[in-house]
Amino acid sequence: MIEISNLSFRYREGEDLALRNVSLTIPSGQFVGVTGAAGSGKSTLTYAINGIVPHCYPGDFYGAVRIDGHDTAETSLTDLSRLVGSVCQDIDSQMVSSVVEDEMLFGLENFGFPKDEIEGRVTRALADMGISDLRDRAISSLSGGQKQKVAVAAILAMEPAVLVLDEPTAELDPASSKGVFDLLARYARIHGTTVVVVEQKIALLSAYADRILIVKDGGVYLDGAPADVLAHADELRESGINCPRATSLANRLRARGLYAGPVCRNVDDAVAAVEEVIA
Ligand code: ADP
Ligand code: MG
Repeated sequence: MIEISNLSFRYREGEDLALRNVSLTIPSGQFVGVTGAAGSGKSTLTYAINGIVPHCYPGDFYGAVRIDGHDTAETSLTDLSRLVGSVCQDIDSQMVSSVVEDEMLFGLENFGFPKDEIEGRVTRALADMGISDLRDRAISSLSGGQKQKVAVAAILAMEPAVLVLDEPTAELDPASSKGVFDLLARYARIHGTTVVVVEQKIALLSAYADRILIVKDGGVYLDGAPADVLAHADELRESGINCPRATSLANRLRARGLYAGPVCRNVDDAVAAVEEVIA
C-alpha cells in the first residue's frame, strides 16, 4: 500500500537531509508505529506519505513514494488526501471550523460524498471515537485531548485506505491514550486500513503495532515486530528512546544471566519473567 524507495529529502531552509535514503514497504492493513528522538525526521516521514512533502514544502526530493501505486510527486494533493487521511502534530492548524459537527462535515462535503451517506458517517465516526456528546460543541471550548479525538473522527468519517497520525495522543493522559489506540486498532482491523502512527510512548506502540520503526537522523534505524525491536536495548537507548520499564527489567535480568526467556513488552510479561527467575 505504501512503497518508499530511496527517499531523501532536504527542506529548502534545511542544511542537512531531513530524510536520508529511506526504503520501506508497508503492506495493506499493517499497523505501523514510528518513534524516535525529537528532530529525527518522524513528521517529515509522515509528510512524505501524505504528499505534504514535496507538494507543500519545497526542497530537494530524491527517490519515490507510491501510495496504492500512485506516485505522490505526480498525484495532486487533493487526490492523495482521498487515499491518505492525516492527523498532523499541530492539531490547531488542522481545524478549519468552529463547531465539531462542521469540522466533521467539511471533509465529507469537500470530497463530494453522497448526501445520504454523510449523516451516517458523521454519527458513526463520532461514536467510534467515543465523542458523540461533543457534536454541537464549539471547538474553542474543547480540551487538547478532545480536539485530537475530533481530528481523528473527522478523518475516520472519510474511511481512507491509509491513515497517518502524528503523535495523536500527545495531549492525552495514559488511560485516554490507550483508549485512542484501542479505537484505532479496532477500526483498522474492521476496515482493513493501513495505519502509520508516530508515537513517543513505545510501550503503547508495542502493545498495538504489528511493526515498529525507529527513526534516527532521518533514516530507519530499526524495523521489525515490537518484540524484535525492543530486544535492541542498547540501540534504543542510543536513539534516545526509553524502553518500557518491564523491558528494561527483563533485559537487566538477562544481562546478569538470570533470565533467558522472550523479550518482555508489558507488566504481564515481566511478571512471568520474574516468576521464572524465582522458580
Ligand atoms: P520529528 O518529527 O522527528 O521531531 P521532523 O521531521 O519535524 O522531526 O524534523 C526533521 C528535521 O527536519 C529536523 O532537523 C528539523 O529541524 C528539520 N525541519 C523540519 N521542518 C522543517 C522546515 N519546515 N524547514 C526546515 N527544516 C525543517
Ligand atoms: Mg514531529
